[in-house]
Amino acid sequence: MPSPGELTFVAPRGAKKPPRHLADLTPQERREAVAEIGEKPFRAKQLSQHYFGRLAHRPEEWTDIPAAARGRLSEALLPELMSVVRHISCDDDATRKTLWRLHDGTLVESVLMRYPDRVTMCVSSQAGCGMNCPFCATGQAGLDRNLSTAEIVHQIVDGARALRDGEVAGGPARLSNIVFMGMGEPLANYKRVLGAIRRLTDPAPEGLGISQRGITVSTVGLVPAMHRFADEGLSCRLAVSLHAPDDELRNTLVPVNTRWTVREVLDAAWRYADVSGRRVSIEYALIRDINDQGWRADLLGRLLKGRRAHVNLIPLNPTPGSKWTASRPEDEAEFVRALETHGVPVTVRDTRGQEIDGACGQLAASQR
Ligand code: SF4
Repeated sequence: MPSPGELTFVAPRGAKKPPRHLADLTPQERREAVAEIGEKPFRAKQLSQHYFGRLAHRPEEWTDIPAAARGRLSEALLPELMSVVRHISCDDDATRKTLWRLHDGTLVESVLMRYPDRVTMCVSSQAGCGMNCPFCATGQAGLDRNLSTAEIVHQIVDGARALRDGEVAGGPARLSNIVFMGMGEPLANYKRVLGAIRRLTDPAPEGLGISQRGITVSTVGLVPAMHRFADEGLSCRLAVSLHAPDDELRNTLVPVNTRWTVREVLDAAWRYADVSGRRVSIEYALIRDINDQGWRADLLGRLLKGRRAHVNLIPLNPTPGSKWTASRPEDEAEFVRALETHGVPVTVRDTRGQEIDGACGQLAASQR
């Protein structure tokens, strides 16, 4: 049965299926796939060890597998999923954005952000996005297709390898956090995103062994999928892209709000917080004279007061040719103060990557 998100937001007609890959499969399915091509089942574990444990996806690196078998295994389980179109660095090379071309020519992007105490990777879960938020470059271009589990995972495996190999300034490092905040609405591609979370968090060699607590999944508020996500029993963080505290404005800024209201979205968020024990992150892009008025800050404060929530204010990174722009500094400061008056924890997000078209989707949009 399709997930609640997929019931509503199906992939567009004509989308080509990505090739099957090791990272799409559970350990049992990997054993079966290896047996299908006449190899011993233990090769599945060797391949997993190479891909997830050693971050080595090229057959020439698999020296414990006979050369004759490597080509067959690679073709069946580790086909080339994507290639780098280009990397762009900024913030003194502490931020690196990668534009990928998938097997069918579709473009997606991921971003590695290095901080003094952690390294965060922002990944795409769909090519494009069907949510149509008017201030967002990705939303303007529409949805191309869902990414497969392996297409999501491979962005991260490659990022982890680049970090380990010292390709990102600051010397070799390990990936500590993953945020599903790149292109797409993760909960509209529910099954594949869930599969990716399993691959990322399963202990090596079956997965990457990353802590669930280091993973953040963002949503515009697909309420049935949020409830389903709560029922998975995970301890990932949930981030809700709210952007307005009132239905009237949110109906225009986040059109899916006409389907599920602010009240319903927040109720689902509080349920997730209760079940997971994690504070929910409320994402709010501050847009000049649109959603940054004092009365809206006050309303937001009243909605969140006493809840297990933290507000992340995002100074909007204007998209080229757009009428939407970032709030004035004094309005931003006043917004923060109003939330603090209600005792709501709030931070203003560090806007990494602005000089490299950092708002979600802009790099891919500029290639179209
Ligand atoms: S803001 Fe997020 S949900 Fe809205 S269109 Fe852009 S990518 Fe999609």
